[in-house]
Amino acid sequence: MTDQIDVAIIGSGPSSLSAAIELKALGIARVVVLERDPEAGGIPRHCGHPPFGIREFKRVLTGPQYARKLVATARLVGVEIRTSTTVVEARPDGKLLLATKDGVAEIAPRRVIYATGVRETPRSCRFITGPRPLGVVNTGALQSTVYLQDRTPFERPVIIGTELVSFSAIMTCRHAGIKPVAMIEANEGVTARWPTGLFPRIVGVPLHLGTRLSAILGNRSVTGVEVVDRAGNHRVINCDGVILSGQFTPEVALARCGHLAVDAATKGPVVDQYGRCSDPCYFATGNVLRPVETAGWSWNEGRQTARWVAADLAGDLAPVGAEIEVVAADPVIRYVVPQRLSLAAGSAGMKHLQLRVTRRAKGTLVAMCGDQTLWKMPLNARPERRILVPVGKFTAAGKPVKIELKFIAE
Ligand SMILES: Cc1cc2nc3c(=O)[nH]c(=O)nc-3n(C[C@H](O)[C@H](O)[C@H](O)COP(=O)(O)OP(=O)(O)OC[C@H]3O[C@@H](n4cnc5c(N)ncnc54)[C@H](O)[C@@H]3O)c2cc1C
Repeated sequence: MTDQIDVAIIGSGPSSLSAAIELKALGIARVVVLERDPEAGGIPRHCGHPPFGIREFKRVLTGPQYARKLVATARLVGVEIRTSTTVVEARPDGKLLLATKDGVAEIAPRRVIYATGVRETPRSCRFITGPRPLGVVNTGALQSTVYLQDRTPFERPVIIGTELVSFSAIMTCRHAGIKPVAMIEANEGVTARWPTGLFPRIVGVPLHLGTRLSAILGNRSVTGVEVVDRAGNHRVINCDGVILSGQFTPEVALARCGHLAVDAATKGPVVDQYGRCSDPCYFATGNVLRPVETAGWSWNEGRQTARWVAADLAGDLAPVGAEIEVVAADPVIRYVVPQRLSLAAGSAGMKHLQLRVTRRAKGTLVAMCGDQTLWKMPLNARPERRILVPVGKFTAAGKPVKIELKFIAE
């Protein structure tokens, strides 16, 4: 084996492993996956429920089965997976500083792919009043306690949030014999798509819409939560734990400490249509690009990114030159990915820009260049739905301009 690493991938979730497998299929000699956890597989490793793998393997798998299958395939095709290896510094030109069980090491791969995924918003960033008792966790921590350590942190928790992952929290609780006493949502409706909102009722978990968590009670352990309804009435719900679910944000601490440009809207790295970051040695793929998509979507992005990285290594990707900048310039538009479109000819990149809205939006999506309207399309969207717009609508401008996306209500 040669000493020169062709591609190092940070993280070992679905996007990383599919990228690594595809790179090997494209003939890239040395592909190394770097994972801080003791086992590879990313988030699905602790999502003990189905459905995973439908797009990838045409089978319904649980998260751990899916993660094991991806890891086994990667190893089989010759991907080198280094676990218990945290990338602690990402330097210009692709040099990485690693913290390993054997000490600190440095590698200088030809290209690096960021595939560090997302995490949920912790208590400290949610402005919650009260003491800091044991028993306040995110869904990810709950799932690893239940599925990986076979322990139960509480018996009667309250679940905060109604995103898809909040319903995974209910499933995890049921698996462990934990009985949630309430599900709390500050908005007037359930965030996840219909019919997911029926699930709490079916399994007997009272759902409180238009209700905000105002304080967590208890000193050593949780004894209750104080909530406020839309009329301003306060009341206490007795419970012994709190699951703070969702409110995802890209795991981008490494990029923030480093030199890569980070987008204020997605909170992930700024990329062009090839997933190429502001330092062209670095690419990014999967959920680190934006919060949040499914494992299947991230897996597919990883495969595509591998093709652009392989093209770049072969000299077939045009160097960064003139670019169109795309900006979400309206509070209704939550983010847009990619944020830059390279105008140089090269292999085809992402076919679509991905957008999300901050609230239910019915009206027109408009792309403006200064005062000029470039194009518009009808928009009828909800925050949980991905909006795809063909890249060609933007590159048609043909010159390096700034395009602002705006929303006009009906
Ligand atoms: C709690 C939770 C539950 C979810 N449940 C589901 C679900 O049921 N179904 C679904 O489709 N999606 C679910 N998701 C969405 C999930 O993000 C995707 O399914 C998928 O895992 C995204 O893959 P990824 O490759 O982008 O990143 P991830 O799977 O998140 O993998 C990223 C990896 O990077 C590693 N890493 C991060 N920083 C470093 C570093 N500095 N050095 C080394 N390694 C690092 C992490 O340890 C992690 O293993 C869930 C997400 C969360 C947070």
